Amino acid sequence: MPEGTAESPGLYAAREPVFPKAVGGAFRRLKWWIMGVTLAIYYVTPWIRWDRGAHLPDQAVLVDLANRRFFFFWIEIWPQEFHYVAGLLIMAGLGLFLFTSILGRVWCGYACPQTVWVDLYQHVERWIDGDRNAQFRLLRQKWNLEKIAARLSKWAIWLLIAVATGGAWVFYFADAPTLFLALFSGTAPVVAYATVGVLTATTFIFGGFMREQVCIYMCPWPRIQGAMLDENSLIVTYKEWRGEPRGKHRKKAGAELLGDCIDCDACVAVCPTGVDIRQGQQIGCITCALCIDACDDIMARIGKPRGLIDYCTLADEPLERAGAAPAPVWKRVVRPRTILYTVLWSAIGVGMVVALFMRDSIGLAVAPDRNPLYVTLSDGTIRNGYTVKIQNMNAEPHPFRISVSSDPELRLDIQGMDRNEFEIDADEARKLRVFLLARPWFTMAERTPVRIWVEDLVTHERASYDTHFRGPSR
Ligand code: SF4
Ligand code: SF4
Repeated sequence: MPEGTAESPGLYAAREPVFPKAVGGAFRRLKWWIMGVTLAIYYVTPWIRWDRGAHLPDQAVLVDLANRRFFFFWIEIWPQEFHYVAGLLIMAGLGLFLFTSILGRVWCGYACPQTVWVDLYQHVERWIDGDRNAQFRLLRQKWNLEKIAARLSKWAIWLLIAVATGGAWVFYFADAPTLFLALFSGTAPVVAYATVGVLTATTFIFGGFMREQVCIYMCPWPRIQGAMLDENSLIVTYKEWRGEPRGKHRKKAGAELLGDCIDCDACVAVCPTGVDIRQGQQIGCITCALCIDACDDIMARIGKPRGLIDYCTLADEPLERAGAAPAPVWKRVVRPRTILYTVLWSAIGVGMVVALFMRDSIGLAVAPDRNPLYVTLSDGTIRNGYTVKIQNMNAEPHPFRISVSSDPELRLDIQGMDRNEFEIDADEARKLRVFLLARPWFTMAERTPVRIWVEDLVTHERASYDTHFRGPSR
């Protein structure tokens, strides 16, 4: 059968342009708020200042890639503390599972960057080209000065938003004001220009042209979230038991047999992904609830109760169909899986907060020499070598002292130093070669436990590391 015929539609279908109509209502207002807050967080965060001393940019949120560190206001995450980042990622995942199991694709509909930027781009489009019908007219119109001017204006604003988006991202990785000036004076690192370029292009193309196709064809989340939804999850539903049979002509004979849907297509016209929710659940539905706003407005105009399209759970559907009241909301929210997600999320969160408050500001790692395990000096002294790495996790240089406690008493020497006190720069690590020495007359076991101590001489905080002193058995 030849491809592309009615019998065999072929593997490729050209994109049908989607021009959603402007709509007002509670969910649209909620989307405005979330869009404003998320965009403000993204664009403004790198510009928030925070005193980090003389050696680091005074930036509240900073990813220091060179030293593999992350700064978030008063919290500083070092490379060896990656478990905090892993904890945050697990919490983000659990939070997403929790919200999805209660509110369906609420992430897709309100907070996903693709949704937020497409929404922003569609507002610009409406502002330049007019609402849905004007946009279709302009699309079909032959190219003339009016169309060229409209297209250039729209693309120019989209491009400005895209550049600001790419630019904001790189500001998280360096001092934002310094990098801002460097980007404009042509002195920023090549990688900064490349990153801004890639993010500008992806924002412009994904937000301006690909839009719902990213959600439907590229994003794995709609497929994954299917496993998280259950019969108690709220999803946007067209109540066909109330709306069908649909029909426009309310004054004709037999109109009393029609359902509440007047087939006005307002719900389809406002949908940012071009979905007709009356055909049931579809992967293109991002659960933005704008069709609820549109249909509620129509119901108000024709004097019917709101909620022909509404959030509804699969479990409530038979009840509503039979005219009974749905289960109380708390029963849909409080169930074993949501309790489990909440408990896990809280436990990880509390654990991380406690660990953050209890952690040291000294990083200490000790690696004993393995080959040879010990050296016997000419006077019979036994010597063990250790590589000791000390991190000063303070924003100023601090003096430190290193010592050892053991039984029997061991002498401590630092290679290249005549005393056991030294300074480490702010947010720097220092590697030392340390030797422990046992007098020849000491009774020596093969493995003697020792504890290496490091003390911050400003804060008097101490860190220790347990290891062993090796020697011949005597
Ligand atoms: S907006 Fe409501 S009444 Fe209009 S077509 Fe959609 S479901 Fe039917
Ligand atoms: S069908 Fe309704 S809820 Fe789904 S994407 Fe379209 S407007 Fe949003």
